[in-house]
Amino acid sequence: MLDPGPLLPPPSGLLAELTHRCPLGCPYCSNPLALEPKSVELDTLAWVRVMHEASALGVLHVHLSGGEPAARRDLEEIVRAASGAGLYTNLITSGIGLTPVRLDALKEAGLDHIQISVQDAEQGSADRIAGYAGAFRRKQKLAADVVARCFPLTVNAVIHRANIGRVADIVELALEMGAGRIEIAHAQYYGWALKNRAALMPSRAQVEVAVAEVERLRAVHRGRIVIDSVAPDYHARYPKPCMGGWGRRSLNVTPAGRALPCHAAESIPGLDFWSVAEHSLEDIWRHSPAFNAFRGEAWMREPCRSCERRGQDFGGCRCQAFLLTGDARAADPVCHLSPNHERVAALAAVGEDEPYLHRA
Ligand code: SF4
Ligand code: SF4
Repeated sequence: MLDPGPLLPPPSGLLAELTHRCPLGCPYCSNPLALEPKSVELDTLAWVRVMHEASALGVLHVHLSGGEPAARRDLEEIVRAASGAGLYTNLITSGIGLTPVRLDALKEAGLDHIQISVQDAEQGSADRIAGYAGAFRRKQKLAADVVARCFPLTVNAVIHRANIGRVADIVELALEMGAGRIEIAHAQYYGWALKNRAALMPSRAQVEVAVAEVERLRAVHRGRIVIDSVAPDYHARYPKPCMGGWGRRSLNVTPAGRALPCHAAESIPGLDFWSVAEHSLEDIWRHSPAFNAFRGEAWMREPCRSCERRGQDFGGCRCQAFLLTGDARAADPVCHLSPNHERVAALAAVGEDEPYLHRA
């Protein structure tokens, strides 16, 4: 069994995907195409144990996600366990399914922070993207209830060809909702977004305008709202340091309990993902073959192996390398130094106004 040695630092973050159930059907959803059904979800006691193991391992913050985590009736119990274990708790919600009564219970259980996703600043478009009539208004109502209870609020907006012209309006919407932070996250092409890639892909000209707009908005709104951004990587010159490096900073646990280095890791065949039902989080972090598969640099091929940026971006995203080249050890083809980069450039040029395949 591999052992990365005593110097392996602990993860700082845990993404707990409590369920894949969700009332919305976003065409860029990061959940896998094969959604895990309710019947295989971990029970309350298992999640309570995971929270305590995460804290003991050194995790500082837990993101309670899904799907829609409010679909679980035991959400408050899981929050109470995480908070009691000393973890900073962030609830990532679609905005559908949380009532004022449940918000009060979550506050009482120790929840620290709430993140609400929005699909667009224009109601008709937002509901069309979500595949759910009335979602836009319900998110606004929830934001008001969240702010009234003094929860810090972040708004997350995935940006793509249907809403990329309204980045300024989306930031304005987040301000109206009372958010202190907004994430402008250009679509990342995994899972459902990969299925909908052509329908989501903006043009290079649109991307350039949007990236400049984010810089302008940061200056305009400095001191009012923090604007984070996730780069449109198909249009980038260098890849993102995905997850801060494979198995370096965080881990995901799926609804059924499989521990993953990132939410898309199951798209790479042949990796052995251990379950929290059979191993402790510490055992998984240190010894799971999947977590050790791309740690360090020994797995790298050229041009990454001799590249001076390999300690900054770790060769980019392993899942993207596999999905676009068939080789998870290849350089992320988003990188202009990759021999496969032309494939990404070609894919980035084929956006189409075609119907979405909404998440099931
Ligand atoms: S991206 Fe949309 S469909 Fe997927 S979990 Fe979030 S709100 Fe639900
Ligand atoms: S060659 Fe590899 S390490 Fe160098 S910039 Fe490209 S992806 Fe990063």
